[in-house]
Amino acid sequence: MYLKTQKFLVLGVSKSGYSACKYLLSNNATCYIYEELKSKKIDDAIKELNALGAIRIYSDVTDAFFNEIDVVIISPGVPINHELAVRAKKLGKRIMGELEFGYSVINPTIIAVTGTNGKTTTVTLIDEILAQADIRRKLVGNVGVPVTSEIENIDKNTICVTEVSSFQLESVRSICPHIACVLNIAPDHLERHYTMENYIFLKKRLLKNQTESEYVVLNYDDETVRSFALDVKAKCFWVSLNEKVAGAYLSGGKLFYKDEFVIDESELTLNGKHNVYNALFAICVAMLLGVDIATIRKALKTFKGVKHRTELIAEIKGVKYVNDSKATNTASTISALETIKTPTVLILGGSEKGEKYDKLFDCIKKTPVKHVVLTGDSRLNMLDCAGRNGVSEITVTPDFSCAIKIASMYAVEGDTVLLSPACASFDCFSGFEERGEAFIKEVGKLN
Ligand code: ADP
Repeated sequence: MYLKTQKFLVLGVSKSGYSACKYLLSNNATCYIYEELKSKKIDDAIKELNALGAIRIYSDVTDAFFNEIDVVIISPGVPINHELAVRAKKLGKRIMGELEFGYSVINPTIIAVTGTNGKTTTVTLIDEILAQADIRRKLVGNVGVPVTSEIENIDKNTICVTEVSSFQLESVRSICPHIACVLNIAPDHLERHYTMENYIFLKKRLLKNQTESEYVVLNYDDETVRSFALDVKAKCFWVSLNEKVAGAYLSGGKLFYKDEFVIDESELTLNGKHNVYNALFAICVAMLLGVDIATIRKALKTFKGVKHRTELIAEIKGVKYVNDSKATNTASTISALETIKTPTVLILGGSEKGEKYDKLFDCIKKTPVKHVVLTGDSRLNMLDCAGRNGVSEITVTPDFSCAIKIASMYAVEGDTVLLSPACASFDCFSGFEERGEAFIKEVGKLN
């Protein structure tokens, strides 16, 4: 692609699209932008891109316009079946995701991590280990850093530790990771992907360009992920909590890589079996990159975790307040519930993603959750489901701040208040970060 003489249409200008567009404009490409969302942040982005030379278009553009376009770059927030993407496709145009476009420019060594839950924690952990090992690397992708925003800082010797979401995988065609990890697969984002079959198909796409020369690390304990091994061409490594697999595993409270002891489970800084999986994936990747065990152990012993993921934010009058705002599906909330040992008041609810909640309420019955506060758009569907599953210690409120106050009133010394919503946040917030910050602020007022 010779950018200077090419005409691009960028669909969606929040973080990734904005970053791709800026890169294109700084390389003198002709750039059209399309955005249908409205917010101050988006309006500011459009103004800035306009000032740099981007031209905004609307959905009423003609086929004659499309014929002029060379490449369409699609942001992860815009579904691949968006009307404009479909029109471009029918005219035979090339459609690239922001991730793919960025990687086609720099062609670096890619470590890619996908899965339903644990991606950010795992890539951050890998990044931390590589930092301790003094390996040149960049943390990019769905973790909040578009590849195109880092192009200038990445060269052939940089390892790109990349979080890859199912939204990004919709537009992946040519990416070939040196090491690809698939952590787990549970129902999520079905409002966008429609069926589990399609969601699984997209996750598998990360592995499709790999050959014998690359590596794949799969979760042996997850039946769906395990089945991926039947089709992959890459060399396969495994992670398991139950079996001594060829890869990284837990045995007798200790984490091993092949037969080598790496670290005691009790020395890991993050709680919960789900975090043992995340650590095992990170160990496997680091070992495949030749990092020594002492360095890996040191990084695992000092890892501080990632904000908004089962994060203890305060202890007030003997009550612990835990922010797990990033738990945006039932599987992630279930994994957070598996870590609690004290009586807990659980705050659930937000915007729906097409998931059913029966498994969640069935799990709640088996944990020390003593009261559930339901909030957000999903509250009434969740209430129905709680009733069907025999969970009756419930308060319902549409208001998020009120939910926190109510939860604090039910909690007594020695209890935990856990925000782990099992839903997206877009009913009231711009994202899980804003919801987590609102939680932290409200908890601050309880003092
Ligand atoms: P992602 O980036 O895939 O959304 P995160 O690392 O941000 O994953 O974690 C999101 C939530 O998922 C956390 O709040 C935690 O409760 C849960 N979680 C983290 N790792 C795992 C895992 N390996 N399996 C299941 N749940 C997990």
